Amino acid sequence: MIDVINLKKSYGNLDVLKGITISIKEGEKVAIIGPSGSGKSTFLRCLNCMEDPTSGSIIFEGVDIADMRVDINIHRRHMGMVFQQFNLFNNKTVIENIMLAPVYIGIHDLNSKKFKNFFIRLRNIFSKEKKPLYEINTTREKIKADARENALRLLRRIGLEDKANVYPSTLSGGQKQRIAIVRALAMNPKVILFDEPTSALDPEMVGEVLDLIKQLAAEGMTLVIVTHEMGFAREIATRVLFMDEGRILEENTPDEIFSNP
Ligand code: ADP
Ligand code: ADP
Repeated sequence: MIDVINLKKSYGNLDVLKGITISIKEGEKVAIIGPSGSGKSTFLRCLNCMEDPTSGSIIFEGVDIADMRVDINIHRRHMGMVFQQFNLFNNKTVIENIMLAPVYIGIHDLNSKKFKNFFIRLRNIFSKEKKPLYEINTTREKIKADARENALRLLRRIGLEDKANVYPSTLSGGQKQRIAIVRALAMNPKVILFDEPTSALDPEMVGEVLDLIKQLAAEGMTLVIVTHEMGFAREIATRVLFMDEGRILEENTPDEIFSNP
């Protein structure tokens, strides 16, 4: 699903990633561990196109995402991302946070079909071969209604339906992070990247967030997780990468990594 080949990233003369090569298959749960500053977060941000690699390639389902012709917004809809600091929009309600990307994508797709149809109509006037128009079977209102219904379903799943219309500032860290996770799920991603999802939480809230991630793992979702929670990594990971100073020093099953000090 994801093939990373000799990925390098430098900031000025600071080499943060020094040649990362790794293949991740559909359904895998990859935990990335390693000391602070070893490049774990930079690696995730490269996968999600939040950083441009200095060199090397990232192939996602056969497409090199560094290729300038790839639409980053289309790539990102397949890769959800969950951050340490939640990154919810504080001026939007919980349900608005969850609906935002699906509505944006839905309307973007609708407009692009309308736009294409306009040109097909023009061309059809002048050419003998008549090209069929794109089928448009939705409206802005339908897109919003569907996104709202889906967001409510996701909130029910995590038991926070009653928080739909409140602002994130009124929630606990654990609630915010679970909402950030279902916000990622609302895009129907093929993989979810987690950057230290529990590091900013009070200890008593870590469990509820890890439990939700474990559910996703059990459902077969492909996950890449940077974490300091070794017990959790051992429990859910199919593979653990140990990073240090911009390189993958070791790559193994959790049992091998953790029994081998
Ligand atoms: P980790 O996630 O393993 O803690 P990071 O990927 O966050 O590591 O950072 C690796 C190194 O890259 C650190 O030394 C950090 O200061 C540096 N770094 C990260 N982002 C930037 C940036 N935008 N500009 C300059 N240096 C950066
Ligand atoms: P994390 O907690 O994920 O390791 P950091 O706190 O290292 O993240 O970095 C947070 C943000 O600051 C990131 O966007 C990163 O690119 C940026 N950053 C980190 N280190 C530096 C740096 N030395 N110079 C400039 N930006 C940096």
